[in-house]
Amino acid sequence: MSLATFPTETLMEITERPPLVFQRGEGSWLWDHDGRRYLDFVQGWAVNCLGHCPAVISEALAEQSRKLITPSPAFYNEPSMQLARLIVEHSCFDRVFFTNSGAEANEGAIKLARRWGAQNKRGAYEIVTFEDSFHGRTLATMSASGKPQFRPLFEPKVPGFPRARLNDLASVEEQITARTVAVMVEPILGEAGVVPATREFMRELRALTRRHGILLVVDEIQTGVGRTGTLWDYEHADITPDIMTLGKGLGGGVPLAALVATEAASCFEPGDQGGTFNGNPLMAAVGRAVLEVVLAPGFLAGVEARGAHLAQGLSRLSGRHGLGEVRGRGLLLALDLRRDVASKVVEVAREGGLLLNAPRPHILRFMPALNLSLQEIDQMLVMLDAALDRVVAG
Ligand code: PLP
Repeated sequence: MSLATFPTETLMEITERPPLVFQRGEGSWLWDHDGRRYLDFVQGWAVNCLGHCPAVISEALAEQSRKLITPSPAFYNEPSMQLARLIVEHSCFDRVFFTNSGAEANEGAIKLARRWGAQNKRGAYEIVTFEDSFHGRTLATMSASGKPQFRPLFEPKVPGFPRARLNDLASVEEQITARTVAVMVEPILGEAGVVPATREFMRELRALTRRHGILLVVDEIQTGVGRTGTLWDYEHADITPDIMTLGKGLGGGVPLAALVATEAASCFEPGDQGGTFNGNPLMAAVGRAVLEVVLAPGFLAGVEARGAHLAQGLSRLSGRHGLGEVRGRGLLLALDLRRDVASKVVEVAREGGLLLNAPRPHILRFMPALNLSLQEIDQMLVMLDAALDRVVAG
């Protein structure tokens, strides 16, 4: 089947897409419009934590869709409370507001912090964020993001986001004034090329924010729900933030995200926050099914073991091809190619049946399903080896 048979021109061009139409997915594999199979190490950008179309999601959707889809967020529904309870019972937080995307969760976190500042810090509203960070594509979350490409876009931006540098506590302290209400941080800068905050930095950041009586917000949209080997990445640093945002893996592939906060930070009043689809039982039932799998005994240890296997394999390839460091945690890893050939590697790998992501010109990012097999990791390494042979040697 030719690509020309599909009405591709009817979609807004928001990104450059490869000439493929994916029609079916199962586990770590995707099939395109020609029936060609691809090993998927992108997984919807770290979204499909249980792979493509897992039975638990199909079953949760089918079962819930026969019971109740959307009563209105102004009424209670059971799946949203059950999922909120699971999150609360397994975290340091007390209350949850469900959203439909990560950006919407972060937008909510910004509003919640400003609301808290109005009540507790004489109207303080500034939120310190980090250079190269990514928090979403609404106007406020683009304003909060430190992604350099966003700087000239959609001016004037939402004010109130002074910038610091990750793993540089002094740069954070410099930005804190009487106007500051919070610091918002991705524990691993994902879009920036998988740059982890160190354990020490996260601990110091917690101590600093406590000292100044301001909130610590962790954006765990990419790192949460088991991606880095613990349920939430902040556990690696052994800290308790005030606010956390979740997305991506929370719904395992369906649009579901969340704003999560401690009781003390949960200061919205009726009318402050809401949304037609927020907390709908159809998506919440999926989130509950996904989280139950991630919480099952041995699952997170499995992520850790697969992550270590993948990291070892990537280090071997790095040595063999004269590349740079392998970094990240769990199954959110990056390989530094030390030269700007990442998009070429992605293209050549795709031709060979492997889907990869290049968040930076010299960086490859790996974010496979959390439950993939060791054989699939080995298969990926063989395919990547071949692509590197062609691009790096060539
Ligand atoms: N925050 C982080 C750390 C992300 O990685 C992303 C998405 O890539 C977002 C926020 C935005 O989430 P969404 O694309 O669901 O709006």
